Amino acid sequence: MNKYFPFSAIVGQEQMKLALILTAIDPSIGGVLVFGDRGTGKSTIVRSLAELLPKQNFVIDCSFNCQNSFNLCDQCKKKKSLEFEERSTPVIDLPLGSTEDRVVGALNLEIALTEGRKVFEPGLLAKANSGFLYIDEVNLLEDHIVDLLLDVAASGENIVERDGISIRHSSKFVLIGSGNPEEGELRPQLLDRFGFSVNVGSPSEISQRIEVIKRRDEFERDPQAFLRKWRRKDLTVQKKIIHAKNALDNIELDDSILSKCAEICIAVGSDGLRGELTLLRALRALCAFNETTKPTLEDIREIAVYTLSHRLRRDPLDDTSSEVRVKRKVNELIDDKKN
Ligand SMILES: [Zn+2]
Repeated sequence: MNKYFPFSAIVGQEQMKLALILTAIDPSIGGVLVFGDRGTGKSTIVRSLAELLPKQNFVIDCSFNCQNSFNLCDQCKKKKSLEFEERSTPVIDLPLGSTEDRVVGALNLEIALTEGRKVFEPGLLAKANSGFLYIDEVNLLEDHIVDLLLDVAASGENIVERDGISIRHSSKFVLIGSGNPEEGELRPQLLDRFGFSVNVGSPSEISQRIEVIKRRDEFERDPQAFLRKWRRKDLTVQKKIIHAKNALDNIELDDSILSKCAEICIAVGSDGLRGELTLLRALRALCAFNETTKPTLEDIREIAVYTLSHRLRRDPLDDTSSEVRVKRKVNELIDDKKN
């Protein structure tokens, strides 16, 4: 058993937990942008969720995380038969200052120099295929790396054509970026890639803080016993996610819900249609997770803030946080309908 902190044992951080669960149910929602102080365990939460998700079948000895007989990498295409092994969903860190070579992959210089052969050394985008790509302080990422990520995130494919190498491989990942809004702005194109933006923070209630410390201490002293203790709860969440994935197609989005979503997006001034599309997908995933078949206005109230806050047009005359502004609008529009 690996040493990871069980997802169900994480105290609080409900926004981030829900956002991750919903993107696991429907990865087309996009990534999750996490705002908050350092040391709030953001990457632990991602790793805990990845461990909780059902194991995936990966081709043994494939560096590109090929999974089934379609969409294979060039190496797997040449194999006579494919053997698979079950592995957890990968979580790959993309550290700040990573070079382009490290991100997209590059010619293996050692083999090229010693053996004269051209061998491609896969990069982080290969390792993150079918998993999560985690970027701490995403707002400090260099522009040319951001451009690369945007291309690959949009196409689901990493294409490397240089140094006499021509490689194309699948690279589909859920992007998780953490950042501090006060340290550098994110480009709108990158912001748009994130389905959700959520806040994490240290709990302010004494009882919650005590619980965090207690569980952390118990985990550190005997991780395996702690994992066993929480296993059943984690499995319940896992089952709900599997069930929700299958139920997505059964969720009805009727015109009244569609028009309410449109009204909200217009009212908050989110540019383009992606905000609306993400909101609808998020609603669908939320219903599937809650085992209902139709979104309600309360579902919109719960989820709209996470899908729209980061898409808000800046208002130089209003320094209220975008989260508060979206919440205000959403509440106005929903309560107006009820009265
Ligand atoms: Zn492969």
